[in-house]
Amino acid sequence: MSTSFDLAVDWANSVSAGNRPKMWGEALALSLVEHSADIILVLTEDHICLFANPAVCDRLGYAPEDVLGHDVIPLHHPDDLPHAQTMLARAAASPGLPAQSEVRLRHQDGSWRWMEVVAVNRLADPAIQGIVCNLRDVTERTEAAIAAQEALRHQEAARRDLEHLNHAKSSFLRLLGHEFKTPLTVIAGNADLLEMEEARSESLLESARAIRGEAQRLARLIDDLLLLDRLEATRLVLRRDSIDLNALVTETVNRMRNMAPRRVFHFQLGTDLPPVQADRERVVQMIVNLVGNAVKYSPDGEPITISTARDGSAVCLSVTDRGIGIAAEELPTLFVRYHRARSGEMKGIPGTGLGLAIVRELAQLHGGEAWAESVEGEGSTFVVRLPVDSSK
Ligand code: ADP
Repeated sequence: MSTSFDLAVDWANSVSAGNRPKMWGEALALSLVEHSADIILVLTEDHICLFANPAVCDRLGYAPEDVLGHDVIPLHHPDDLPHAQTMLARAAASPGLPAQSEVRLRHQDGSWRWMEVVAVNRLADPAIQGIVCNLRDVTERTEAAIAAQEALRHQEAARRDLEHLNHAKSSFLRLLGHEFKTPLTVIAGNADLLEMEEARSESLLESARAIRGEAQRLARLIDDLLLLDRLEATRLVLRRDSIDLNALVTETVNRMRNMAPRRVFHFQLGTDLPPVQADRERVVQMIVNLVGNAVKYSPDGEPITISTARDGSAVCLSVTDRGIGIAAEELPTLFVRYHRARSGEMKGIPGTGLGLAIVRELAQLHGGEAWAESVEGEGSTFVVRLPVDSSK
């Protein structure tokens, strides 16, 4: 790209060659420089500004005397300094050959303007004796290009998220198929047994229990799916109450004992625990999911510890087991719906990956949080943090 100054001089010279006075061409060149929309600077080899046209004021807000006699390098954005220095060095090394670059310069008001810069070494030209720089303000074009790139990056990230979600959804649907089929097989098998006339009363009772158990499992699964849907659509409204967490934990776990009659549950309940502001039914649900998991993912003989403790303006409920544990790299995705850890799947323990997603979303809806700490092969602790009832 030729600078407007170059064009002006060339044109003026060609005109003056055809019998017009040379002064005519110079006056025209000066007029073009004066009225150019581009900034035109003449620099020494050390980047000191010898000349600046009025556009430096229109484009960057500086009066010519603010730049005249000063090094122009400090006007550059710190990230663009290497570009600017390389470009000026290239221009200096090749007299007459334009060197080009796009850099940000600081406006007098502190904002940054993108400039397309063309620098030509005219040090040897006795009429100029400097490096002529033409700076075209391309802020709008460059910012639009950057915004388009950013939008593209967001789109790409959203596409990757969607792919990830689709993948999780597919494996969830496979799981769901399995989860529905297993109880249905049990229900159908036991119904067949009930139909057989020779079935004795004890086995009838057994079949009825199996049917009820599996039907309850299916109902729980459907409840979980519906609850997650309500959480996702932010349709779930909490009925907050002032709750004694120690009493609720003890009551809930005691009700769960018949589900795991051979288990030992240890309670380590904090004394003088303040009440929490929470929805009783939803807190029960979080306890049931965490204690249910501890039972499911740890061997029968191992104890399960349930603790409560005050933690600043919140109360923490922890459930600790000595079970199969979870690999550290899987901990961050554990609370994402449909996600299951490798350790559980490898052991063939049935599950849908919904329970912890429900726990975290309920905790967050309460203004709290939920997380896990675990060592694979040694055990896990799941924690729910709920805000205390500040009105008490
Ligand atoms: P589900 O148990 O139905 O698969 P959850 O959302 O409750 O779903 O748990 C997600 C995953 O986290 C489980 O599949 C399991 O891999 C892992 N997990 C949850 N609780 C424990 C625990 N106490 N010990 C080891 N792994 C656990």
